[in-house]
Amino acid sequence: MYSRLIGFLLITVGMALFAPLAITQQKVTSPEEYFGFQLGSDRNMARWDKIVDYYYLLEKESDKLKIINMGPSTEGNPFLVVIISSPENLTNLKRLQKINAKISDPRGIEESEIGKLVKEGRAVICQSMSLHATEIGGTQMAPELTYDLITRNDEETQRILDNVVFFLIPCFNPDGQIMVTDWYRKTVGTEYEGVGLPWLYHKYVGHDNNRDGDFLNMIESVYAAKIMYREWIPQAYVDHHHMGSYGARLYVPPYSEPIRPYADPLIWREHSWYGAHIAYKLEEAGKAGILNAAQYPGWGHFGWHWITPFHNIAGMLTESASANLATPIYIHPDQLQGGARQFPEYEAQTTFPDPWPGGWWTLRDIVEQQYIAAWALLDLAARNKETVLWNAYLKAKRQTERGAKGTPKAYVISSAQHDHLTAIKMVNTLMLSGIEIKQAQKEFVAEGTIYPEGSFIISLAQPKMGLIRNLLGRTHYADNSWTRDKDGVPLRPYDLATHNMNEFMGVSVDPIKELAEGDFLILTDAVPTIGKVEVSDGNAGYRFDGRLNASFKAMNLLLDKGVKVWRIDQSVSGLLPGDFIIANEPKSILQDVANQTGVDFAALGDDLNAKTHEVKRMRTAMYQRYMGGNMDEGWTRFVLEQFSFPYQSIMDGEIKKGNLNAKYDVIILPDDSTAMITGERQGESEYRRSRTSYPPEYRSGIGEEGVQALKAFIENGGTLVTFGESCNFAIDKISLNVRNVVADTNPKEFFCPGSTLKVTFDNNHPLAYGMPSEGLVLFSSSPAFVISPSQHNERYETIVRYIDKDILRSGWLIGEKHLSKKAAMVSAQYGNGQVVLIGFRTQHRSQTHGTYKLLFNALIH
Ligand SMILES: [Zn+2]
Repeated sequence: MYSRLIGFLLITVGMALFAPLAITQQKVTSPEEYFGFQLGSDRNMARWDKIVDYYYLLEKESDKLKIINMGPSTEGNPFLVVIISSPENLTNLKRLQKINAKISDPRGIEESEIGKLVKEGRAVICQSMSLHATEIGGTQMAPELTYDLITRNDEETQRILDNVVFFLIPCFNPDGQIMVTDWYRKTVGTEYEGVGLPWLYHKYVGHDNNRDGDFLNMIESVYAAKIMYREWIPQAYVDHHHMGSYGARLYVPPYSEPIRPYADPLIWREHSWYGAHIAYKLEEAGKAGILNAAQYPGWGHFGWHWITPFHNIAGMLTESASANLATPIYIHPDQLQGGARQFPEYEAQTTFPDPWPGGWWTLRDIVEQQYIAAWALLDLAARNKETVLWNAYLKAKRQTERGAKGTPKAYVISSAQHDHLTAIKMVNTLMLSGIEIKQAQKEFVAEGTIYPEGSFIISLAQPKMGLIRNLLGRTHYADNSWTRDKDGVPLRPYDLATHNMNEFMGVSVDPIKELAEGDFLILTDAVPTIGKVEVSDGNAGYRFDGRLNASFKAMNLLLDKGVKVWRIDQSVSGLLPGDFIIANEPKSILQDVANQTGVDFAALGDDLNAKTHEVKRMRTAMYQRYMGGNMDEGWTRFVLEQFSFPYQSIMDGEIKKGNLNAKYDVIILPDDSTAMITGERQGESEYRRSRTSYPPEYRSGIGEEGVQALKAFIENGGTLVTFGESCNFAIDKISLNVRNVVADTNPKEFFCPGSTLKVTFDNNHPLAYGMPSEGLVLFSSSPAFVISPSQHNERYETIVRYIDKDILRSGWLIGEKHLSKKAAMVSAQYGNGQVVLIGFRTQHRSQTHGTYKLLFNALIH
């Protein structure tokens, strides 16, 4: 206390002495003055609303930062991008943006001009904070970083402001930040202080907001893509995270092995280059426990730091050891351990020269190390601005050249698709990523195939070649000594083994070896989808296409308006099982639905003579739990809302009470383990239990009562739909005569981590109406089924089945014989109801549009 007071006096005296010099400088409020405590101090967290006000205050007080409010988050909180640079650069942003655009896409520009642009331009650097809302350090650190950048007058700071335009995303998940702050404040001082949030830290997706850099389903992702993929392509990007508490104190770039193909090689060198400076500055500052080139492989998911390298951005991450939110954690030396991938022991190694010895670990430690890391990135870019820009040019140029020379040369997306509206959705998503797409104004021929007018062609001779290859090309995950241990056991990839967009979406994309000639126009805006309503002269009504996902939205909108809808149950001329039929409704109603969905309404002749049934929408319940929430549950809600399916969330208490048939016809169990559903939680690691000792009201599990209530629900005519792992729950607890054939396989014999596999769909069965006869499903830790012999084999039906051989499309599959001809989706009658087991990921992360209909069909009758 005493020494602090002295310090305060000295500063006051200092300010008084130099006051005449500082007279032109407006006072800038420090974070400590504003928030009333030092950010990162124990048991304190600043809340996003207050932080937003602070940035706006700084914008008033300083001419070195500018705020862009990108718009509301999912739940209506502001999503900010703060641009920090010299006042000159900030007034010149339009020109700098233009220069940056030319360097990032130098097609048609002379190299001599690039040389001039590199001199005139500024390095564009982006860093984002606390995407994962429980990883609170970044957002708490950023105000201090901002304040220092705009108030320090030393040469280093000036160099950064002069040479760098810094795009700071101070909070990538505003909604989650608020949830976590409020939760933490509620628990401080109780026995649950520092325990994680019992539910998802986002309305829908929680941790999976870092799996959305490709499909851009969330509005926060759309904002980030606008800045990073289209308006500004930064040269480097760092996303600041936290990891577990018991390993290194901080992971910094580069990544470890293996690396994903098709990025420019300079990217991987840049990771090492920036990472070395970051690590060097941390060692210089005496920070112990800094690790690089380990743990996080260069082949991960398509979250932000992992997808940006394919946009030619040096995309990186840092990972700080976690405290218990803002509560310090004590770590004994013998609790410290190495981790996966090139960090085998908690011992000194070249990439970890100074092991941290253990002791108290606090939020302030995290804030300080992240501050140094963030500053070091800006510092290195500022010192080497021209190199950074020149290499950005080289990456873009060389990727374009590789695309022009390589095979394939382009991908064609025919407008003749099983579900052409989903194909357009894919095209529009790729547009959000800044990929150049051309649309054919007339039909054209490529490699002997005639593509109709309106088809799309994506040339690989463009800077984002690597991204396009990864999203649209068939991919095989590496099977080599980086991906198997010394005994040959395959190592699980960090995420899925493929992220192929068109395979997930059920869109057919053709690679072509030579560029096609034709009349093409570069798309500048999203492709509109407005459906047509034919003039009907008969009285038989209209048909809309059961093969389109969007038709289910149309169906829901019509049912909401009280319009009766039927489905065709047999093939008749021009109609397929699953096609939707309505009576001769007023054109205005239909046109409104056609505008919203893109679905066409075709007039029927007078003589429709097919078997039909009236569509009844089932009262659907979506099971939701606490214990941190379940992302698959959130994503399922998101998908249902996108397609206007009504649903209710249902939790343990309501299930346990029973009498479920009174309110619901269908209950969906998202992908989850039996232990999490029942609450038995066997086999859970000590570490996880210690992290999830939630207050009793947030410990979930339906228990034996819940199992009995679900059984009664099905026996009385209800439908239970289970996704992925929760099929095991249904098999075990509802006692179905079905066996999961890959339940106990040895990974050397059978291994399939997140891959697309070939199947056949029984599209004459109402559960597979609208599906093609064959296609792809996403397998990810999925069960596969055989029906066990019993007296009641007739009660079981296989809706989707793996094909015989060459099952793998993209990803990694060892031991395909285990899946050969096995059932992938089974419907089982049980009492008066049924259980629908969907083993694969029918709606994975709102990405697998190709299999949505299997879910939708289960929600109607
Ligand atoms: Zn994270």
